[in-house]
Amino acid sequence: MLQVPYLNLEAIHKPIRDELNGAYRGVMERQWFIGGEADKTFETTFAAYCGTDYCVGTGNGLDAIRLILLAYGIGVGDEVIVPANTFIATVLAITYVGATPVFVDANPDTYLIDVGKIEEKITARTKALIAVHLYGRAVDMQPIRKLAKRYSFKVIEDAAQAHGAKYHGEMAGKLGDAAAFSFYPGKNLGALGDAGAVVTDDAELAARVRAYGNYGSYEKYDHVYRGCNSRLDELQAAFLSVKLHYLDRWNEERRRIAETYAAQIKNGKIILPRMPENREEHVFHIYPVLVDGREDFITYLRDNGVGVNIHYPTPIMKQKAYEEYCGEAERYPVTNRICAQEVSLPLYPGMTEEQIDWVIACVNRYEKKI
Ligand SMILES: *Cc1c(COP(=O)(O)O)cnc(C)c1O
Repeated sequence: MLQVPYLNLEAIHKPIRDELNGAYRGVMERQWFIGGEADKTFETTFAAYCGTDYCVGTGNGLDAIRLILLAYGIGVGDEVIVPANTFIATVLAITYVGATPVFVDANPDTYLIDVGKIEEKITARTKALIAVHLYGRAVDMQPIRKLAKRYSFKVIEDAAQAHGAKYHGEMAGKLGDAAAFSFYPGKNLGALGDAGAVVTDDAELAARVRAYGNYGSYEKYDHVYRGCNSRLDELQAAFLSVKLHYLDRWNEERRRIAETYAAQIKNGKIILPRMPENREEHVFHIYPVLVDGREDFITYLRDNGVGVNIHYPTPIMKQKAYEEYCGEAERYPVTNRICAQEVSLPLYPGMTEEQIDWVIACVNRYEKKI
């Protein structure tokens, strides 16, 4: 039986193995491992890719969000608006700095933050909103920017799943005041380990983020903030520079697979994600379908050699770590439904036509047991 893993990083890395080995050898020759040539090169090229003035490498995506919040001085007593439907890291960053997350339910068509439900959540304490381009789909930013201007709060993008996604011709990363990226290996642009970055046009913010991630210092042994250690290392930067070169190609391949799924999956029991009007808005980090009776569907697919994943099985408000929000969990019905029914189908660059066809055939043949 044909096997289709949920994700196959070998299919992504094998064709560029020599280049990645070359990147490794370059770092070994220089014997400089943090804050050197490779970091500078990647930061410059990634900022240019996003169309921003600055890029600051971080240790991972969670830190990228956290460092932005710290650098803006957001903390205890401040509120940060955040979609209820997101990966937990977005919310961990908010509570790490002592601020309070204020959840907004998901839009039933896009599964992203429901833009029409934001204004009612704004208070005098609102200091920022984190727009999460979840699944690789750009959030509708225009109304958010308007609200941000009217109520004067910062707009931070969590672009961890959306490298290369565009909104009205502009790149994710360029759509708010500052943006956080993750380069976790499975992301659309992934390192060979943990890595992240902040991009922004704000020179002062960029400098503060760098200082906060470098023990709170602008200059060695001169500590202005109670910072932390969260930096991009040379090896990961060198690998990322190699892979950045392929990002647009890979994203196009992802879109093509998603479009094939959208055109050929026909099963009344499976709800497919709504495609965006402009295909550039989506880079399909994830292809989320909704299924009533998810366990049955997942078992069936696994029995047929198809690996799947769930993004995400439990709403944040129902996690032990956030049990004080448990009481309000039912106020986010769309998020609850997505968490109860979501199944992510395999989708990655290097998937063969045969594998794509097999996923489609299996999903189309699925019949729910009564
Ligand atoms: C992956 C991810 C993060 C966290 O990134 P790490 O590099 O794993 O810390 C944050 N937000 C979203 C939406 C993510 O998918």
